[in-house]
Amino acid sequence: MSEIAHFINGQIVSGTSTRRQDVFNPATGAADKAVILATQNDVDDAVNAASAAWPEWSKTPALRRSRILDKFKNILWERLNQLAEVISTEHGKTLDDAIGEVTRGLEVVEFATAAPTLMKGEFSENVGSGVDSHMIRQSLGVCVGITPFNFPAMVPMWMFPVALATGNCFVLKPSERDPSASLLIAEWLSEAGLPNGVFNVVQGDKEAVDRLITHPDVRAISFVGSTPIANYIYTTGTAKGKRVQALGGAKNHMVIMPDADLDMATNALMGAAYGSAGERCMAVSVAVPVTDAVADALVEKLTPKIQALKIGPAMDPASEMGPLVTAQHLQKVTGYIDAGEREGADVIVDGRSFKQDKQGYENGFFIGGTLLDNVQEDMSCYREEIFGPVLSVVRKQSYQEAIDLIHAHEYANGTAIFTRDGDTARNFTQDIEVGMVGVNVPIPVPMAFHSFGGWKSSIFGDHAMHGMEGVRFYTRIKTTTTRWPSGIRQDPEFKMPTLG
Ligand code: NAD
Repeated sequence: MSEIAHFINGQIVSGTSTRRQDVFNPATGAADKAVILATQNDVDDAVNAASAAWPEWSKTPALRRSRILDKFKNILWERLNQLAEVISTEHGKTLDDAIGEVTRGLEVVEFATAAPTLMKGEFSENVGSGVDSHMIRQSLGVCVGITPFNFPAMVPMWMFPVALATGNCFVLKPSERDPSASLLIAEWLSEAGLPNGVFNVVQGDKEAVDRLITHPDVRAISFVGSTPIANYIYTTGTAKGKRVQALGGAKNHMVIMPDADLDMATNALMGAAYGSAGERCMAVSVAVPVTDAVADALVEKLTPKIQALKIGPAMDPASEMGPLVTAQHLQKVTGYIDAGEREGADVIVDGRSFKQDKQGYENGFFIGGTLLDNVQEDMSCYREEIFGPVLSVVRKQSYQEAIDLIHAHEYANGTAIFTRDGDTARNFTQDIEVGMVGVNVPIPVPMAFHSFGGWKSSIFGDHAMHGMEGVRFYTRIKTTTTRWPSGIRQDPEFKMPTLG
């Protein structure tokens, strides 16, 4: 069984831990690799390497930092498929989907190559007589990224390209369920010319995370994962004086108005609910058709499409949906469908009955697409995040009822409205209390030069990721006021200085 190790100070290292965790191929159900789970000493080694590299890296001209990222970007383009294959093998998502993931991450690298522009400060002349003032952005030091299983390349790339471009050093703690992508990324960054210690990877679980978020030399923490852990990371990290951005779970609603193009909405729902087996924080898991007539027509259109979903291993180009990530997660998703049925939802398409009969994949963690109708607000399948290919239909009779439903939910990551009416769409985008909004766009993931982040229990902290929000998160500003040179010849002043 091969072992997946850490990357510290430019080297792959096994560290000191005796603890291991199996890494599965979700399509076959077999564990042919194990990831090493770091000890606190291993974490300290990574943080020490990053601390030692920071003084020089932070003073390296932004243009040079950006050239290294540009080389890394070219390597990513050349080896897109190699990275995508590694992701598909450990995560289970289809190869096409994994290529899409890497491409979205790569776009953040592209954004970060503008480092010299992104770092530009401000200058004001004559803020007082003969007095000038300027503001610069400086890096923080050692920054940490703790990432979820569902985007093992893209989510780390929401973080480290901006952190490195702005002069920070980085320690990544990827998900222990699909850890291999992180090592390829580390090796390719080195190949692109990144100095040793600037980017490090520690594999691990809670033990590693707990050391990272309390380590005295860590300045900032970026986290993406489930809401309870996001909350824990935020409260623990900020109590230790660290800057923290922690993105959590989601339950994304898509409102389908009576004037919507129903075929367009149906196709959008298919991709948004069942793509990546629903293991996306921007997946649409709740359809909100406005009026029963729209709901009936929608369910009628969705049903045959869900039944016809091609479910298979990631590497089969015919597959539209792969397996879930682990057997435990499969059990959890099945449990939510059981609960929905028990609580009174109508199971229109039942993914629990799906059996994978492709030879060699009979033990994979597969489930079929599921459609639940007449779901009510108090059901656990509505209130909680399922993170699987389960679409709940919650019927509403008016636009206002749909808005009230969304506002009453704990999560506020993404949402969408399908309508042909500009006034309704404008109202929705203005009034809805959700961080990322789509109009006839089902998964409104902001581009790299905008910023990604939800509201309410979908985020803890004040900064979304990448774009200018990322630059603000990974830098602190310093403002210098200069009187030069006549002021030094004046007598001392003891009153509070007023410059105007
Ligand atoms: P998770 O919370 O289980 O794990 C995320 C990270 O936290 C992993 O690196 C894991 O090792 C670590 N972790 C887990 N338990 C911990 C504990 N008790 N103490 C300290 N660290 C711990 O999430 P996951 O299952 O890997 O990912 C799925 C979740 O991520 C979903 O809730 C999904 O909505 C969310 N997600 C959110 C976004 C977003 O942008 N809001 C994006 C992607 C995923």
